Amino acid sequence: MTEKKYKLRFNNSNMHDSVSYVLVSKFNIMPNVLQAKIDGSGGRMILSMKGDEKDIENAISYLGSVDISIELMDNYVKRDETRCIDCGSCVSICPSFAFEMDKVTQDVLLDTSKCLACGFCISACPTHAISLKMNL
Ligand code: SF4
Ligand code: SF4
Repeated sequence: MTEKKYKLRFNNSNMHDSVSYVLVSKFNIMPNVLQAKIDGSGGRMILSMKGDEKDIENAISYLGSVDISIELMDNYVKRDETRCIDCGSCVSICPSFAFEMDKVTQDVLLDTSKCLACGFCISACPTHAISLKMNL
């Protein structure tokens, strides 16, 4: 079981398709819509997909076949190392343990692959060192 996040782009003809329903019923994926936006040019969505690697691959192929463009979002949490003061506020608030304090050096380490893009750490950081690359 793995979880990955993707940016989806819909055009005016497929923007009302029920993507979540298809992902669950056909591909055994657990989808979670993190952001969604519709405007004159179509729709955009940031979607988390949880499931087996093969099922996610099949789901991506399906989305491509119905003309929904899909882009993997990785490394979307970023930290400005020059601003970080290793205070640890982000460690206690992060639900996915993406931040961890090194027991020896007391440095706060960040594993971006664990991030769920919840955004909690952004408001918790006193020096505004953290940002999310989540713009639709
Ligand atoms: S956005 Fe959420 S999951 Fe990602 S590092 Fe910050 S607190 Fe953790
Ligand atoms: S909350 Fe901000 S300053 Fe504190 S350890 Fe985390 S990134 Fe660094």
